[in-house]
Amino acid sequence: MSFESLGLLPPLVNAAHAQAFTHPTPIQQAAIGLILQRQDLLATAQTGSGKTAAYALPILQNWLLAHQAGQGHGGVLVVVPTRELAAQVGDAIKLLAHDLPLRPKTVVVHGGVSINPQMLALRGGADAVVATPGRLLDLVDHGAISLGGVEVLVLDEADRLLDLGFAQEMNRLVAMLPKRRQSLLFSATCAPAVQALAQMLLIKPVRIDIASAPETQPDIEQRSICVDVPNRTPLLRHLITHEAWQQVMVFVSTKYSTELVAAKLLKHGIDAAAFHGELSQGLRTEILLAFKTGRLRVLVATDLASRGIDVAQLPAVVNYDLPRAPADYTHRIGRTGRAGKQGVAISFVTAQAEAQFRLIENKQGLRVSREVVPGFEPQDPAPTTLAGERGPDNGGIKGRRKSKKDKLREAAKLAAQPKSSNQNL
Ligand code: AMP
Repeated sequence: MSFESLGLLPPLVNAAHAQAFTHPTPIQQAAIGLILQRQDLLATAQTGSGKTAAYALPILQNWLLAHQAGQGHGGVLVVVPTRELAAQVGDAIKLLAHDLPLRPKTVVVHGGVSINPQMLALRGGADAVVATPGRLLDLVDHGAISLGGVEVLVLDEADRLLDLGFAQEMNRLVAMLPKRRQSLLFSATCAPAVQALAQMLLIKPVRIDIASAPETQPDIEQRSICVDVPNRTPLLRHLITHEAWQQVMVFVSTKYSTELVAAKLLKHGIDAAAFHGELSQGLRTEILLAFKTGRLRVLVATDLASRGIDVAQLPAVVNYDLPRAPADYTHRIGRTGRAGKQGVAISFVTAQAEAQFRLIENKQGLRVSREVVPGFEPQDPAPTTLAGERGPDNGGIKGRRKSKKDKLREAAKLAAQPKSSNQNL
């Protein structure tokens, strides 16, 4: 199937091709025609499935045709959960609109930066606004924007919007929207809260469920490595070098750990930066841009980076700390293996974290064989494991026997370690 056959106009097809989108992804195949017909949509699709273009392309076309016909077109409002996603979606819309004879004025608004330039940008109106909910409401309260003219509403990553506690903001926003509009809701899951939101927003929506179609599952090799807590950074360094990853996103559980792990990598000449919610927005944007453009090799992040962020061809994700919620595991590993590319996701499983990884496996309905990397054999008391899950029989990497020298080295290392070492690191 081609983009043309979905009913898209040549400038939009060209823009898609210019992005190296040769064929529409399954969500694009399913959604583009329906959106062109101005249907409401409830779409379950993973991030990485190409959902941004799935709604941006037909929305741009409808906007253009209405303008050319002199019918005017109310605004397009895209609501997203995070600042990074707002910037990403804004960029995608601008790129896809690039070849249109008329381009919609697109404004991105989010918190963490001064509101004044955004108010200025909205002066004289905007055709498309991409916004996080809190800042959007601030702008409404300042009289910088009115939502009465919204003709198309997109909620992107609706499940995340609700997870982040934006339900009240969403209710307020929805109350301000005109009744006559097209509404599109995209979500990675279809949890009851998402369904309730859909019921409030959508009129006779067509439901598309891409997430559960096996042929659309991303190609991610999942691995787990048993390692002791203090050995995780050396193991990470070893993997970065030996697996020759051009880039890797490393997830840790605390802001403090992002800084610490990044500093340790830097000390060993590996280009790394910490990424978490307490950095200024300017720094967050700068670091993310460096990572997305390949100038930064390792991003050590909290779960702030686990959703929505799209790094083209990211080869690897490492769970240095396991996520607390099994659902976050899916989102984290989904940073790799995007848009049909292969990726690897490696989880470090310490003796203390074994039970948590079991829980994640159970929720996923999978078993990931535990590996041991020679030189990093865990010494902490082994957790109780299911028979046959560990060791040479299960496809894991067999650890070499420790030499006397290894044992002496370890003893020296242990003696040198401060007693109060942070168990999270
Ligand atoms: P999204 O799910 O919107 O975050 O998109 C994930 C990634 O897929 C982005 O890097 C897009 O540039 C890319 N992408 C979107 N559509 C296509 C397509 N038809 N073919 C190849 N890559 C695509």
